[in-house]
Amino acid sequence: MECLFCKIINKELSSEIVYENKEIISFKDIHPKAPLHLLILPKKHIPSVNHLEEIDSKLVGNLFLISQKIARKKNLRGYKLVANVGREGGQLIDHLHLHLLGGWKSAKEREVPGMP
Ligand SMILES: [Zn+2]
Repeated sequence: MECLFCKIINKELSSEIVYENKEIISFKDIHPKAPLHLLILPKKHIPSVNHLEEIDSKLVGNLFLISQKIARKKNLRGYKLVANVGREGGQLIDHLHLHLLGGWKSAKEREVPGMP
């Protein structure tokens, strides 16, 4: 398996894991764009949102619920959850993932390039 994220999931590559259960894992982005920048992804290799199928609906729901849980644990009052899709959409790794960005002290401090 050539997928970088699958290698992290299989512990062939190390990363700063902040959450893990049997179907979902979260670790720190190595190029943070916010004071806290985590990636939250299913362990199942799904290349992107464009590749989701009906059978994945519960998994996707759980991705958001786990995101909420992590944000609470990190005491984030506000944050962004972003899924880039395809190269044109800024997706760099072809394994579905949510970016959780947060940790700003105020709305004014928040500045993510290319995002409102
Ligand atoms: Zn993968």
